[in-house]
Amino acid sequence: MSQVLIEASSILTQKEAEMTEREHAEAEANANEIRWKLREHQQRFMCHIDGCEQTSAGPTLDQYLGHWLWDWKQPTELALCDRCIRWTCLAHLSGGFCQDCRAGRCETKKDVGVRGGNKSVQR
Ligand SMILES: [Zn+2]
Ligand SMILES: [Zn+2]
Repeated sequence: MSQVLIEASSILTQKEAEMTEREHAEAEANANEIRWKLREHQQRFMCHIDGCEQTSAGPTLDQYLGHWLWDWKQPTELALCDRCIRWTCLAHLSGGFCQDCRAGRCETKKDVGVRGGNKSVQR
């Protein structure tokens, strides 16, 4: 009687272990995909001000795995400059204009339209 019980419980444990392993692999694959997407997202959405490293924070893993619907085309903590229409971090943005536009030196920048700029973005 007790022998049967032990066998039954060990089968159950084994099944649970297999399940957990598969779920683990799936979660790991998901996490890798999210990390990859996040990197791409952050390369696309970063402050265009020289020397500024601020990128979109993007979703946290928890937000994503929690079936939270995340729009990868929408950055966080960045806003478009009203004049040059490029992504700017909130620290470099004031009154809708980026630091460079306010200083009147946006057009002289070498990297105009390359770094952080995304003209196809619809507002
Ligand atoms: Zn600007
Ligand atoms: Zn910045």
